Amino acid sequence: MKNEVTIHGKRFEIYLSQEEISKRIQSMGEAIAKDFLNKNLILIGVLNGATVFLSDLIRAIDLPLEIGTIRASSYIGVKSSGNVVVDRKSLPEIRDKHVILVEDIVDTGRTLDELQKVFMQMGAKSIAIATLLHKPEAFEFNYPLNYVGFEIPNKFVVGFGLDYDELGRNLPAIYQIREHEY
Ligand code: 5GP
Repeated sequence: MKNEVTIHGKRFEIYLSQEEISKRIQSMGEAIAKDFLNKNLILIGVLNGATVFLSDLIRAIDLPLEIGTIRASSYIGVKSSGNVVVDRKSLPEIRDKHVILVEDIVDTGRTLDELQKVFMQMGAKSIAIATLLHKPEAFEFNYPLNYVGFEIPNKFVVGFGLDYDELGRNLPAIYQIREHEY
C-alpha cells in the first residue's frame, strides 16, 4: 500500500488503510445482519463510487439478500455541483422490500435525500443508509445515518471506489488530498 499517490497532478496521502477499512466493513455487516433477520432485504449501491464498498459489505452480511445499483451524481471534479441527477431508468424493483442504500460517502447528503424520496415513492417497506464515509461538517440534513464506517473531515478523498475525475477508484485504501493542493 502506497503512502502517497498523484492523480491528475494532485497529491494525496494515505488516510485509511486496507486493514482498517476491511475490519470496519466486517462489523457493519454484522450489525446489519442482526437488524434485518427474516426481512426481505435489498442493498442498493450508488454508482459508480459505492461498487467497491457494496461488494465487500454484502459478503460481510450473513443473510439472504438481493443487490441492485442506481446511477446518481452531483460531483464534477473536486466540488459538488449542487444538482443531483438520478437515472430513473436504472432503478431496481423494491416494492415491499427493506432497502439499504449503500453510499461510498455522504457529504452534503443531497444525493441521499433525493434517492430516499425516489425509493419511498416506489413503495419501499423501509429505507436505511449504509455509508463507508461521512463528512458531518458538510451534511445539510438532520436525520441520523444508520450505518457509518468512518466520520471524516471535510477534505477531498479518493480510493476504494471514490474517484478524482474518474481515476483512483481502484486504490485499495483511502487517500486524502494534501493541504496545499486545493
Ligand atoms: P452529497 O450528495 O452527499 O454531497 O455527495 C455524495 C457524492 O459526492 C458521493 O457519492 C461522491 O460521489 C461525491 N463525493 C463527496 N465527497 C467526496 C470526496 O471527498 N471524494 C470523492 N471522490 N467524491 C466525493
